[in-house]
Amino acid sequence: MKKLGQHFLVDRRVLDRIGDYASLSEEDRVLEIGPGTGNLTEVLSTRSGTVLAVEVDPALAISLEGRFPNVEVIRGDAIRVTLPDYNKIVSNLPYQISSKITFRLLERPFDLAVLMYQREFAERMVASPGTKDCGRLTLNVALRAEAEILERVPRGAFRPRPKVESAIVRLRPREKRIPVDERAFDNLTRGLFSMRRKKVKKSLAMMRVPSDAMLRIDPNLLERRPQELSLEDVVNLAKTISGK
Ligand code: SAM
Repeated sequence: MKKLGQHFLVDRRVLDRIGDYASLSEEDRVLEIGPGTGNLTEVLSTRSGTVLAVEVDPALAISLEGRFPNVEVIRGDAIRVTLPDYNKIVSNLPYQISSKITFRLLERPFDLAVLMYQREFAERMVASPGTKDCGRLTLNVALRAEAEILERVPRGAFRPRPKVESAIVRLRPREKRIPVDERAFDNLTRGLFSMRRKKVKKSLAMMRVPSDAMLRIDPNLLERRPQELSLEDVVNLAKTISGK
């Protein structure tokens, strides 16, 4: 069977704090990815109106069905399944799908997300420009949302104990979307950060950016390395290159 990242969160204090961070109320429809044995689902169920729980493991999904009156279990892979409407997302994520599910969730409307990730992944999500952790993930998250680490969670909070540490991240979508062609932005960050030691000038040449577009780019930006670019710099570069 495919790896499912089945490390269940058993520390009651951490479970309760996740509920607190999400400021839940009866009004909330909460999406939970990977409810597993239902430890977090129980907290979400007592504090919110409805929980929509997507679980890929059929045995776990069956054992959750009917256990809580306001929890709807959706069987399937959270990357592919049709997602219902919700306003908050609260999950202890299966780490092997961190990147894909984060990008999928960021494309859809939501008010607030409180998500557990592998610690290193969380640090890359919230990294500042100019630091070694800043990369394609950082910029793509920053384009759409404000991300902050709320706490680091030790391995002992889970059963079975995972090999990696974890961290809880809160995402709040940007009130106003930054006007840029998102595909051009993503292609640019992918290109720049696959050659992260090279100067922007060199990477853009290798990405075959046409010379007329190169001439329109601020020469200061061309001399930098990708990690030294701010979000605004990358947005401006993407706009100049794509002409949109
Ligand atoms: N929420 C539970 C907890 O905190 O104890 C379980 C979290 S466990 C880290 C991840 C859960 O996600 C497992 O129950 C696993 O079966 C499920 N899962 C793994 N891949 C999935 C996918 N692609 N779609 C939906 N659920 C998935």
